[in-house]
Amino acid sequence: MKRTVAGRFAGIERSATVALFEMVQTLRKQGRPILDLGGGEPDFATADHIVAAATGALEQGATHYTPSRGVPALLEAIGEKLRTENGIVLNPATDVVVTPSAKHALFIALMTILDPGDELVIPTPSWVSYSSMAHLVGARPVSAPLKAADGFRITRRALEAAVTARTKAILVNTPNNPTGRVLSAEEARTVLSFAVEHDLFIVADEIYEKILFDGAEHISLGALPGAAERTLTVNGFSKAYAMTGWRLGWVSGPTDVIREVLKAQEHTVSCASGFVQAGGVAALTRGADAVREMVQEYGARRKLVVDGLNALPGVTCSAPEGAFYAFADIRGTRLPDAEAFAAWVLAETGVALTPGTAFGPGGEGHVRLSFATSREVIGEALDRIGAALAASG
Ligand code: PMP
Ligand code: GLU
Repeated sequence: MKRTVAGRFAGIERSATVALFEMVQTLRKQGRPILDLGGGEPDFATADHIVAAATGALEQGATHYTPSRGVPALLEAIGEKLRTENGIVLNPATDVVVTPSAKHALFIALMTILDPGDELVIPTPSWVSYSSMAHLVGARPVSAPLKAADGFRITRRALEAAVTARTKAILVNTPNNPTGRVLSAEEARTVLSFAVEHDLFIVADEIYEKILFDGAEHISLGALPGAAERTLTVNGFSKAYAMTGWRLGWVSGPTDVIREVLKAQEHTVSCASGFVQAGGVAALTRGADAVREMVQEYGARRKLVVDGLNALPGVTCSAPEGAFYAFADIRGTRLPDAEAFAAWVLAETGVALTPGTAFGPGGEGHVRLSFATSREVIGEALDRIGAALAASG
């Protein structure tokens, strides 16, 4: 029968993170007081001056299509940001496409560089959508599992084990969702030399670059000598500026590749909304104070969550260097299986966590706790889990 969906959906599940987010809303509607440590969504409101820039733009008539690659003011602001903060020097008029979300930026970037049958190496644990996006463009995601015992460090050995003649690109996320790891200079060199030797594209997802702790430093792979010609850098406003609902991101890279990315953008969404882009300009040019305050608060929550986790029997957690996730090792508990543990915690305590297996091979025996939520919720959630573990002891 012809009434079947395309075969490319065979390897695809619903997004585990989005599905969990929706499940929390449903359980709350049913009257269950759920504490949500599942979703990676900042609980802060977008800064007032960013909102004012967008509403002002709306009032002044920014209700039309914009140029597909983005409004000139935002492209300029992104070019300046990449140069001064990331060491990436490019021409924003030709080498950047502003997209409705970093998700769309990643999707059209992968669509542009991957042919059906091509392979994308993804060090895992990794954010849930990369492998599904690869499937959606007809390519094959190949996991390079990293070891918990090694602190989820990217090693040449892990990458080489994943490479084949069909490998076309490697995708690296730093700071990392879910592990909280920040790429070291040595790992960055490993990724680049691996990409050069196998002649691969690098896709760098830097959406958490501003959320760093204890002096950790962000490295942009695209800024390394010799990397620019093969690197597509993706970023967005959701996490740093608490702008998840605005749906705004961008992708930058070599002129000849971005020319094709622009076609994918034009034939799918045309452009990001004009008034949303006005908010983006305000964020990039005048958003630093708001970011600093939020990162300071994430730092306090991180301590709370890491100390709390390490005090639980059978649970260990190293402090994340960046992003707002704690990736806890639960193998010492009575329920070392991540999905069973997360389901048990939700049923017993009403606390929503994400099982590490949602993030691919390497995530077994771990659960992800998002600390993009208040200290009160984090404290109460850890108390409830502690009590449940003690009672089941
Ligand atoms: N990359 C990573 C690693 C993420 O965690 C997210 C969060 N959804 C995204 C990209 C996409 O962000 P957005 O689409 O909200 O810009
Ligand atoms: N990126 C966040 C997370 O990992 C938000 C949900 C999503 O888009 O996946 O929880």
